[in-house]
Amino acid sequence: MKRVLVTGGSGFIGSHLCEKLLNDGMYVICLDNHYTGSMKNIEHLKHNTNFEFIFLVVINPISLVIDIIYHLACPASPKAYQKNPIHTLDTNYIGTKNMCELAMKNKARLLLTSTSEIYGDPQMSPQNEYYWGNVNPIGIRSCYDEGKRISETLLSDYNRFHNLDVRIARIFNTYGPKMDKNDGRVVSNIINQCLNNEKITIYGSGNQTRSFCYIDDTVDGLVRLMNNTKSIGPINIGNDYEMTILELSNVILQLLPNSKSKIGFQDLPQDDPTKRKPDLILANTILDWKPTTSLEVGLKNTIEYFTHI
Ligand code: UDP
Repeated sequence: MKRVLVTGGSGFIGSHLCEKLLNDGMYVICLDNHYTGSMKNIEHLKHNTNFEFIFLVVINPISLVIDIIYHLACPASPKAYQKNPIHTLDTNYIGTKNMCELAMKNKARLLLTSTSEIYGDPQMSPQNEYYWGNVNPIGIRSCYDEGKRISETLLSDYNRFHNLDVRIARIFNTYGPKMDKNDGRVVSNIINQCLNNEKITIYGSGNQTRSFCYIDDTVDGLVRLMNNTKSIGPINIGNDYEMTILELSNVILQLLPNSKSKIGFQDLPQDDPTKRKPDLILANTILDWKPTTSLEVGLKNTIEYFTHI
C-alpha cells in the first residue's frame, strides 16, 4: 500500500483529495496546522485505519517514510494569504524546501499545487503554461504570487540539480462544498450573502473575469497529474468557462430565486487580475483530462452545502 502525504490536507481542496486517495486504496497522512483548514473537513476520515493526521506547520521540517507527496499547504484566498504575508512567504519558500528535502530522502514523487496567480494580471488570454506572467513583485498579492513562483522554481531546480521526480499543477479558481465560509472568496461570499438576504459585494465594476472549476474535477486533475509517469512541466488545472463576476452573481441569484439580495459595488482591491482563463490543451493531451461538472450542478452542490452548515 502506497504511503501518501497530503500537506494542507484539512483545507478545502486537501480534504477532498485525502478522501479520494483513501478511496483509491492509499495510506494517507494528512498534515495541517489548521491555519485555514479545519478538523471538521476531515472528521469523517478520522476513523479510517488508513488515515493519519499530523498537526504541524510545514515551516518545521518533518521526518516520515513516504512514497508520494501532494504539497498543498498554504493559505490560498487573498484574505487569508494577506493576513500574515511573511507567514505566507515562509510557507512557500521554507515549507516547499522542506517538502523537497523530504521527497529527496524518500526518493518520493512530489506534486506542488501552484496557482493561476503566478500569471498575475495576464496580458494574454487564455493563459497557457509557456506564458511567464505579469506579476507585481511588491504588491499586496505578491506574498502569494511570488511565493508560489519561488515554490515552482524550487521544484524545477531540485528536478534539474537532484533529479527529484516532480509535478506542478497550476490550479485556477476552484469552488465546491467545504469552501471556508469566511475566507472572502467570491463564490462563497455571494452564495452566503444571497442565502442571508444581504447585499452582494461586487468589487470594482464586476467586469473582471474568472473561470470556476468544481472541486471534484480539480481533484481528478491533480491525481491524474501525479500518476502521469513522465515528469513534465507545469500543467493548468481549471475550467475554461470564463465569466465576469457580475455574470456569476446573476447565475447564483437565479439559483436562489427567493433571495432578496441586491448587488452593491465596492472598491476593487489592489492588483486584482482583470481576467483569468486557463488554456487546457496540455491537460487535455497529456493527462486526458478536462472538467466535466457544469457550473449549474457545481453551484447547486455548493449552495446545498452552505444551506446546511
Ligand atoms: N470578488 C468580488 N466580491 C467578493 C469577493 C471577490 O467581487 O465578495 C472579486 C474579486 O475582486 C476578484 C474575483 O471576485 O476579482 C475573485 O476573487 P476571489 O477572492 O474569489 O479569488 P481570486 O481569483 O481573486 O484569487
